[in-house]
Amino acid sequence: MSKPVWIKHASQLVTMASEHKGPRTKVAMSELSIIEDGSIWLENGVIQAIGTTEELKKRYNNRITEAEIIEAVGKLVTPGLIDPHTHVAYGGSREHEFEMRLEGATYMDIMNAGGGIHATSRMTREATEEEIFDQTEKRLNSFLTHGVTTIEGKSGYGLNMETELKQLRVMQRLQIEHPIDIVPTFMGAHAVPVEFKGKEDQYVDLIVNEMLPQVAEEKLAQFNDVFCEVGVFTPEQSKRILVAGRNLGLTPKIHADEIEPYGGAELAAEVGAISAEHLLKASDTGIAAMAKKGVIACLLPATALYLRETAARGRAMIDAGVPVAISTDCNPGSSPTTSMPLVMNLACISMKLTPAESLCAATYNAACAIKMEDKIGSLEIGKQADIVLWNVPNYQQLQYLFGVNHVNSVWKKGVKVVG
Ligand SMILES: [Zn+2]
Repeated sequence: MSKPVWIKHASQLVTMASEHKGPRTKVAMSELSIIEDGSIWLENGVIQAIGTTEELKKRYNNRITEAEIIEAVGKLVTPGLIDPHTHVAYGGSREHEFEMRLEGATYMDIMNAGGGIHATSRMTREATEEEIFDQTEKRLNSFLTHGVTTIEGKSGYGLNMETELKQLRVMQRLQIEHPIDIVPTFMGAHAVPVEFKGKEDQYVDLIVNEMLPQVAEEKLAQFNDVFCEVGVFTPEQSKRILVAGRNLGLTPKIHADEIEPYGGAELAAEVGAISAEHLLKASDTGIAAMAKKGVIACLLPATALYLRETAARGRAMIDAGVPVAISTDCNPGSSPTTSMPLVMNLACISMKLTPAESLCAATYNAACAIKMEDKIGSLEIGKQADIVLWNVPNYQQLQYLFGVNHVNSVWKKGVKVVG
């Protein structure tokens, strides 16, 4: 059992605590519940006490010799960041496509020429489980050093039973062996594999009749995601896959309206998805439907930047009452980053979120997007002790001084893992 940790005299301790339960919308996204001269006591993996340093002194001064004391003068404390959308477990690398795109090729050009997802699919099929494990572990280490303590991870580079299961098993092992928590999503419907070109419905049959039942049987995923896009899966095919998953206990998620408006946001509301992803081209009707049903918009501004697209209308979505979360979309093609702080900066710069909303989108609302808000996403007594100490005095500077990693230290379940 590790020593208790007492972090005290933080210039700002952003707790994100609220009476409001469930995904936060509108002004609730700006309620950070900040404690000045804040103090927090971590013990047995959870938060035991939180308040001003004066308040905690009364309770803990007699135990001062037992604890590791962290003087946080001039520093900010927040919940561990949460990345609710990654494609982190894959084989290979695609830096040559970066150059192709700089020379003018589009994401869809590259994919239609057998690159993109298909290239990673080939490399992921060829890689051993051990090789994928090693590559993914490095990425998880990088997430941690950027203050990320929990991520969602998708399969979707196998596109056949064997490799989809291989990716999910890598994530299952990393969940046990790595400090980061990984919440797994099955995404067999990430692309139509080349061997099913022209026989798309047969691939949908394979997902619905064989892959999803096997994934559910082995309890390898909690969510089921589909790339609903022109030239990938139609809204009808997407609905079939999402409903089949839902019937097996897998909560729907959907890559929606990224490249063209295609009714993905509307479909997310219709099938009761927990979240819809990307949404660069989501229609006003789709946004209104998401607000009505409380579907979380999981927005990926680093992907938009990397593909040189205009980012999603984050500001308009919040104003329309949609709960917004943000994510790296960490993947080898359109967003090879593990920096959630960069994503928070970009959410402000390219989607006009305020620094407060951006932080909510990367913590509490992100936890809601992976159904983990009872455990993580805010600093409250009894919650998991996933904490980041930042080398800046307030949350505004975290967003303002962009492109820099301000992480000082990270605790996961009360144990220091960075710093
Ligand atoms: Zn994605």
